[in-house]
Amino acid sequence: MAHPRYPHIFTPLDLDFLRLKNRILMGSMHTGLEDVQGGFPRMAAYFAERAKGGVGMIITGGIGPNEEATGGGAKLSTPEEAAGHRIVTEAVHAADPEVKICLQILHAGPLAGTPACVAPSPVRSRIGRFVPNELDEAGIEKQLADFANCAAMAKLAGYDGVEIIGSAGYLLSTFLVEKTNLRTDRWGGSFENRMRFPLEVVRRVRAAVGERFLLIFRIPAMDMLEGGMSGEEVVTLAQEVEKAGANIISTHFTWHEAQVPTIATMVPRAAFAEVTGRIRRHVGVPMITSNRINMPDVAEAVLAAGHADLVSMARPMLADPELVNKARDGREDEINTCIACNQACLDHTFMGKLTSCLVNPRACHETILVPRPAERRRDLAVVGAGPAGLACATELAARGHRVTLYEAASEIGGQFNLAKRIPGKEEFAETLRYFRRRIDLLGIDLRLDTRATADMLAEAGHEEVFVATGITPRVPDLPGIDHPKAVGYIDAILGRKPIGRKVAIMGAGGIGFDVAELITHAGPSAALDIATFQKEWGLDFANHPRGGVTGLVPQVAKADREVVMLQRKEGAPGRSLGRTTGWTHRLTLSRRGVRMVGGVTYLAIDDDGLHTLVNGEPTLFNVDTVIICAGQLPERSLHDALVARGIPSRVIGGAHEAAELDAKRAILEATELALAA
Ligand code: FAD
Ligand code: NAP
Ligand code: SF4
Repeated sequence: MAHPRYPHIFTPLDLDFLRLKNRILMGSMHTGLEDVQGGFPRMAAYFAERAKGGVGMIITGGIGPNEEATGGGAKLSTPEEAAGHRIVTEAVHAADPEVKICLQILHAGPLAGTPACVAPSPVRSRIGRFVPNELDEAGIEKQLADFANCAAMAKLAGYDGVEIIGSAGYLLSTFLVEKTNLRTDRWGGSFENRMRFPLEVVRRVRAAVGERFLLIFRIPAMDMLEGGMSGEEVVTLAQEVEKAGANIISTHFTWHEAQVPTIATMVPRAAFAEVTGRIRRHVGVPMITSNRINMPDVAEAVLAAGHADLVSMARPMLADPELVNKARDGREDEINTCIACNQACLDHTFMGKLTSCLVNPRACHETILVPRPAERRRDLAVVGAGPAGLACATELAARGHRVTLYEAASEIGGQFNLAKRIPGKEEFAETLRYFRRRIDLLGIDLRLDTRATADMLAEAGHEEVFVATGITPRVPDLPGIDHPKAVGYIDAILGRKPIGRKVAIMGAGGIGFDVAELITHAGPSAALDIATFQKEWGLDFANHPRGGVTGLVPQVAKADREVVMLQRKEGAPGRSLGRTTGWTHRLTLSRRGVRMVGGVTYLAIDDDGLHTLVNGEPTLFNVDTVIICAGQLPERSLHDALVARGIPSRVIGGAHEAAELDAKRAILEATELALAA
């Protein structure tokens, strides 16, 4: 019988030799576990938890077929290496024999971090470290043989199939476009020739693994490059890939070097699904779509609209391994939603750190952060219901402790209530919905509108207090800081004080950038409107010109305001922003005409504006408003008072250490402490 709410998601997909139990798969993500000693048992636990959580199919992180494909990263080319992978496949099949797991074969081509990297032509990528070595005939033959061997090893390791990534600026895709394929032999020139290598990879892999083994091919559905693939070429590629032996075609958006955000939180949910839908009309095999599909209703709508046969959810599976089971059981309000911040997943990958998840620090740490029932049920208090207090209270209660959660405000969330008001950060509200539901389910005694004091807590007689009272904004010691032109960031975000037409933002950290986004924004949030998103990033989904890019100057709506962002440090502001998202914030603000000035010494605020020295030169910023975003200080007065009275107290989150604090650290710190308490 069809599922009442998600009939498309829970309709199995039958291929001749294999059945997928539902239409949601966990997309490929590099976690770093592939590369570390002892990584396979941890990977096994990580994937097995997702298999138990109901997903129909899992794709591993990218694994190279040879050394030159990876530059020292994980590869699979020998039976010994296959033995390690067997730990993973066995764990997944033991968790649920119906769940399929495929190995992603990733040949990074010019993006492999090795001087031995290879490509059709010696064209260095904008983001590559080396000029790749041009492949000759023998080199091409070697790569083809290595792909086939890798797939055979995947079969030996117990995988149900392989996914070949043919997009993103990795090897296969560099054959497809003229700017990276300058060859004049049979591997270059016409599109037919440029397709030859990817298609030959598919044929060789198929020949190596036989017919009853899943072969998924990921096409560059829209590469977002000037002079990239046209819509017609993408369709032709998909049709030829199907003929060459792929069972499923997956769509991938953008090359890594293109300057269009495709998964960050300012990208609308399911933004690119319609692109997959257009290709799907011309193809016989099932198609997968992906990107910013983070809740089951979004996945169901994509499938119901006919945009795809399967939906890939990658980061949402880091955030909540049980997502599919929760959807099946009508417990959507319990889903810990991926907010697309990239802070603990993609940013970590780019920093060479293990992947985790801001909202779920257990991701990829399943064998380390293990929730165990408390040995003795204790009466505990948590003060402050920001991210740190929420994570702490819910983990403590889940372990069986009796928890009272005090919050001075009339709602939970702390600074997330400010963050969710920033255009492009609407998803942050989901985290608060998740915690609200957890609080109900776990029977936590939530006391809103209650500013806890040491007296109150002493009288209540809790055995221990966890102080998560957050921060107070730093107020720089400056003549005129109490002038009516000076406005704190909280008042600015909450609209409690008027903001003038000419504005200086003092401080260019994360909050300074968010405030700049808020006060220069006009019209609908691009994160909520796919048409606006296309306009702002110069894309055209319907006509699919080369690369999907219009070539027109992006049309960014902006408020009628002149804004300058200032910082004391030398150099351009924005260096502290996330690795994978900072550039989008900087680019958006510069398109809105926001000026950024470093090397500033603040002197005074008065009726004329903000007096400063810029690189030693006296400079007056003649503005109507100065918004103070000068960092934060820990709010520890309650903790100090408790300690003074001898009441056991532990302090977490911003209250512990405000410098460089973000929600990732707040939630991790709280989780670690609660699991050990
Ligand atoms: P807080 O969130 O400050 O919560 C403290 C809570 O304690 C508050 O609710 C307060 O009312 C309560 N409280 C204080 N004293 C008492 C008392 N005596 N009794 C009862 N309750 C009390 N971080 C990111 O990682 N990524 C982002 O993209 C991001 N964007 C942000 C955007 C904005 C606009 C802002 C302002 C912050 C952003 N942050 C972001 C930072 C992030 O929100 C903080 O790091 C995080 O909220 C800190 O959590 P916390 O629980 O320690 O403190
Ligand atoms: P922040 O990132 O530390 O930035 C503080 C800014 O204030 C810096 O520009 C700093 O640079 C300036 N400053 C520090 N002391 C000052 C002083 N005495 N006078 C004037 N300026 C001073 O902190 P934040 O912007 O307040 O953000 C708080 C936390 O929330 C951060 O840790 C951040 O990671 C997190 N957050 C993250 C995001 C995100 O997108 N990931 C978004 C918002 C917030 P100079 O000293 O050079 O002037
Ligand atoms: Fe999603 Fe952020 Fe978690 Fe990454 S860290 S999975 S983007 S919530």
